[in-house]
Amino acid sequence: MSNLPGSADPASTPPPPSSPPPTPEQIARLKKLLLKKGAEINEKLVALLNGQQVRVDGVFGGKPGEKPIERLRRFMAIIETQLAAIRAGTYGKCERCGDGLPYAHLEQVPWIDTCQKCAKELAEANDLDKPR
Ligand SMILES: [Zn+2]
Repeated sequence: MSNLPGSADPASTPPPPSSPPPTPEQIARLKKLLLKKGAEINEKLVALLNGQQVRVDGVFGGKPGEKPIERLRRFMAIIETQLAAIRAGTYGKCERCGDGLPYAHLEQVPWIDTCQKCAKELAEANDLDKPR
């Protein structure tokens, strides 16, 4: 008798989601990246509060006219939200449409919270808001 698991009729299995959720190992790795980035931001914040000059050019998603400290605090909040999502088991999904985010993308930008499609739509919406 050979009755191997996983030999179900392929026609009856639903298609896989566009991006499967990250495995626990992948999540653990992404969490490390987030914690590392969080520590980096925290260091910059402390330096800023001590009156030192801090470069924040590399910090994700700066807004025009935003002060370095505001940018760092906002970024820190994003990282904390993502760490909370990991604890809640909701990490790795687009917060706008709920689609799974590809692991390759998460590994590059572990604090990302929207899929490329939604990010593009949001950017376009922001463009429309800009004064001309
Ligand atoms: Zn989305």
